[in-house]
Amino acid sequence: MSEAPPHIEDVVGDRPIALENIVDRDALSDLCKSFHALFKVGIRVYASEGALLVSVADDLEVCRFVNDFPAGRAACGATVSAAKNLAPAESEEVTHPCFTGLAYHVVSLEHEGRRVGRVVLGPFAPSALREAPDSFAQIDKRLDVVQAGAHLEVAPRLEGEMLQRVTKHLKETLELIIFSSHKAWVAGKVHLYSVRENYRELQDKAARLEQTLTRLRELDRLRSSFLATMSHELRTPLTSIIGYSEMLAEGIAGPLNSEQADYARTIHAKGQQLLGLITGLLDLSKLDSGTMRLRQSAVQIGPILDEVITTLSPAARKKDIALQLDADRTPCELTADAERLRQVFVNLVDNAVKFTPNGGRVTLSARIVESKSAADGDDDVGAILFSPLLRAVEVRVADTGIGIPTSERGKIFDAFYQVDSSSTREHGGSGLGLSIVQRIVEAHGGQVSIGSNSPSGSVFVVLLPSAQARRVALPSRVPPAVP
Ligand code: ADP
Repeated sequence: MSEAPPHIEDVVGDRPIALENIVDRDALSDLCKSFHALFKVGIRVYASEGALLVSVADDLEVCRFVNDFPAGRAACGATVSAAKNLAPAESEEVTHPCFTGLAYHVVSLEHEGRRVGRVVLGPFAPSALREAPDSFAQIDKRLDVVQAGAHLEVAPRLEGEMLQRVTKHLKETLELIIFSSHKAWVAGKVHLYSVRENYRELQDKAARLEQTLTRLRELDRLRSSFLATMSHELRTPLTSIIGYSEMLAEGIAGPLNSEQADYARTIHAKGQQLLGLITGLLDLSKLDSGTMRLRQSAVQIGPILDEVITTLSPAARKKDIALQLDADRTPCELTADAERLRQVFVNLVDNAVKFTPNGGRVTLSARIVESKSAADGDDDVGAILFSPLLRAVEVRVADTGIGIPTSERGKIFDAFYQVDSSSTREHGGSGLGLSIVQRIVEAHGGQVSIGSNSPSGSVFVVLLPSAQARRVALPSRVPPAVP
């Protein structure tokens, strides 16, 4: 199981934001460059912890002039670092003078009422600067005041109201960039958080599903083994009940009056019905657990269908139903358990007869179909073109009976499912037949599907791959036969 998730507050944080982490530096730099291009004044933007984010400044003549002298250089360095370290209170501005008469203007940058950084403008010539101050000479006697004055003449000027306007505009624009950068940063964090959260939830769900699957597999195995044991244990006494009730009904143990003989016949019939149900359950549990033994050998479909017709003709005759066989006798070898295939078609034809009203028609037909088939997932036209022709036997059981609504067709292969449970009373079914049919057909690498007969009734179509097709097919496409 994954560790506890972080809270969204931990992700977005309630701490002061670090500008260097969130701000869009390119946007910031472009803005500062355009300001600098307009006013020629140097601009430096610092985060509240002191990290330099943007620096756009020209080397002023007067600065180069003083930097030629060691004392000038030292004084310049001290001024710059003092200006840089000035931290005006929120919404405040401070002007820091330079010994050259120039000045730096420092403005605090705020976001959501908190100071997040500052912008240093300068050096520039303020309104008060009219001529080179004496401080030049005080720094170093060699600094010529006249020469300095000439350099100061060409220094950028920011005076009075102009300074206020430029500062206000720059501050507002920078704060806007900070605002949108922060918004994008928060949106990114929240998105990341929700992706992580979804991933963690998915992991938890996958782990829970895995556990449930393991548990279900275990339950399924237990259920199959319980059914197999119970069915086996029930069959033994039932065989005696059926045998003795039959002997009684036939008078082998002495004569019975007609009422007693009736009772014995009912016991025998119900015993047979119960035996059918138990055998069905046993088959189903064996098919489910993969322990059904298929005695596979080379067989042809024709003789199997002949037997089916023979078995079910009496039942069809009783209902005056025309039971017909229309089988293509072209040899097509199947590798199959003939007895299980017989069971499949007996089940289907028995259902067809059961659910067809008197006087109807049930047709059992077989034909050989051929298809070009490439391996699963192989959409390559070439692969399909050069693949061998795969033969299969298609058996159709069509009736003119009550039909199966389209909405029910997906469910009737489920064990115990019946479209109309009242039919159990009428026909004595258990709802196991079709699920056994489907599993046996699939165990032979085949498929069973349902369609509508025209104008009424249903058609069950069973497709069984030929022995050749099963050899060619990938092993994964054909369930292995239990030897
Ligand atoms: P049952 O023992 O009830 O026949 P099956 O599994 O063989 O069990 O069939 C399940 C249900 O499918 C039946 O109860 C019936 O409702 C429906 N069914 C099967 N075959 C037909 C058919 N040929 N025509 C109409 N309904 C059918």
